[in-house]
Amino acid sequence: MINVAIDGPAGAGKSTISRAAADKLGFIYVDTGALYRSVGVYALRNGIDTKSREKLKEALPKIKVELGFKDGVQHVFLNGEDVSDEIRLPKSSMAASDVSAVPEVRSFLFDLQRNIAEKNNCIMDGRDIGTVVLPNADVKIFLTASPESRAMRRYKELSAKGAAVGYEEVLSDLKERDYNDSHRKIAPLKPAKDSITVDTTLLSLDESIEKITDIIREHM
Ligand code: C5P
Repeated sequence: MINVAIDGPAGAGKSTISRAAADKLGFIYVDTGALYRSVGVYALRNGIDTKSREKLKEALPKIKVELGFKDGVQHVFLNGEDVSDEIRLPKSSMAASDVSAVPEVRSFLFDLQRNIAEKNNCIMDGRDIGTVVLPNADVKIFLTASPESRAMRRYKELSAKGAAVGYEEVLSDLKERDYNDSHRKIAPLKPAKDSITVDTTLLSLDESIEKITDIIREHM
């Protein structure tokens, strides 16, 4: 199977670019952030402190997260319920960032990610795919962009969906998540040694997709 790992900070365009590149190549696209977000949603719904390792450890046996693909689009199920929309709320993003720092949460989601990669040609995006989940991936890309341009894209996305958030709030949330994700002890966000860094600050979406698809093709 061909496995492509795409890692990088929030809002660099990982999911949009990965999905489009996967379409062009006939691969499946796996958004691993959705898994952490689902655990975060479980915690929020059940009044569990998203920063409490003990409480989260206790809750894990009650959580079942599954991925399904409808018309090539990934859906995520939390104990059988499709939570694909709810996981996108800003509070779910922050909860995901919190729970993702808990080692037991990471190992809980590890096998699920590995199993998908073993059975499918896929592009998998996240924070630790090239470093931890798929250290032997055929291609590893670290996708990044300036915090301001990432926040602007996220802000436009959320506004288009009718969410009442301001740019400054999006920027400060994003910086906080960047900090948490790159400073946690376990599986911090960092480029794998053998990854190719692509900065999309000055690239349009189409240019970014073309660049990523070209890099993957060159390595196939
Ligand atoms: O990619 P997305 O923004 O949906 O991820 C939500 C959160 O899940 C991230 O801020 C990060 O803390 C966590 N995450 C992770 N490892 C991954 C994917 C996401 O820690 N592979």
